[in-house]
Amino acid sequence: MREGMDAITQAWVDAGLQLSKDPTLKITCPECGKGTLVCLDEPTGDPKQSDRYMICSDCRKWNKVTIDNPVN
Ligand SMILES: [Zn+2]
Repeated sequence: MREGMDAITQAWVDAGLQLSKDPTLKITCPECGKGTLVCLDEPTGDPKQSDRYMICSDCRKWNKVTIDNPVN
């Protein structure tokens, strides 16, 4: 076994990078390969940042990425 991220973890990281820029992108779930990841933003308590949850529409597996709030 080689150290490092497995393919599923890598796919979540890639999804997080894409969805942190554009939450409307349709990204296939890294876990089941069937569902689409749906984004839900939650405040973190820090006004500059939010947690963006990425939830599969099919298997309900999820992950989150911290995003910078838009500056008004
Ligand atoms: Zn899934």
